[in-house]
Amino acid sequence: MKVKLASNYGFCFGVKRAIKIAESYENASTMGPLIHNQDEINRLKNNFNVGLYTDLKDVKDDDTIIIRTHGIPKDDLKNLKAKNAKVINATCPFVTTPQQIVKKMSKEEYSILIFGDSEHPEVKGVQSYGYDLDDVHIVLEPSDLEKINFKYGKVATIAQTTKKKEKYLEIVNTLILKNKEVRVFNTICDATFENQDAARELSVEVDVMVVIGGKKSSNTKQLHSICKENCEDSYLIENENDLDPKWFENKKLCGITAGASTPDWIIQQVVNCVESYN
Ligand code: SF4
Repeated sequence: MKVKLASNYGFCFGVKRAIKIAESYENASTMGPLIHNQDEINRLKNNFNVGLYTDLKDVKDDDTIIIRTHGIPKDDLKNLKAKNAKVINATCPFVTTPQQIVKKMSKEEYSILIFGDSEHPEVKGVQSYGYDLDDVHIVLEPSDLEKINFKYGKVATIAQTTKKKEKYLEIVNTLILKNKEVRVFNTICDATFENQDAARELSVEVDVMVVIGGKKSSNTKQLHSICKENCEDSYLIENENDLDPKWFENKKLCGITAGASTPDWIIQQVVNCVESYN
């Protein structure tokens, strides 16, 4: 099987930075998974003894805690500091920006609209920076706006970093029709655009497409959905163990891309495996 890699794929700047930070603090722990990739989390555990807390209550006084790329809610950060834990902030700067925008615009009495998944840790973190939490709204579709009553006559809007820009534009267009003042902040991350554009381009020319990444990663799921639009035989896998040789029967060219949390060593293992198919 012939393999062609997307012109952009894999680790983004924020993830590379977070991993470098985690590698430089042996015996530290992360608050929630550092990135959306279990294999890389296992590697950090095995090689650098990086632990994982899922509940703030379990953190001990002298712990070193690394804040993950997606950030954490404002109160969690405050509570961690109150515990005297050493806090190392590995939140991606592109996630810190929407947090600060929400804080500033909310203080200036703008209603806040977030385009994102309300259950996503990044969105929960960003939302927590709102001054008036009753007036921080989260939507996924333009139709979700119908149910919202903005408190103020002016709205500031931001997007989860991994969302599709086309959908954000639809939401912004709907928002403008019904509000006198709308401040739009494009907080969608370039790394996401670049990986998405490259995946779109490649999925047009291949017979089968493999997207590698965490199944919970919104970034990876989105790459998969983009590939599916052009190539029906697009599969989302976490590592080479998820590959099914049947997918490659009667196919000549396999395109491969990977989400922003997928390490190169996993991508290489998948490439080797796919290339070994006849
Ligand atoms: S995808 Fe963008 S926002 Fe998310 S961690 Fe990577 S660089 Fe940061």
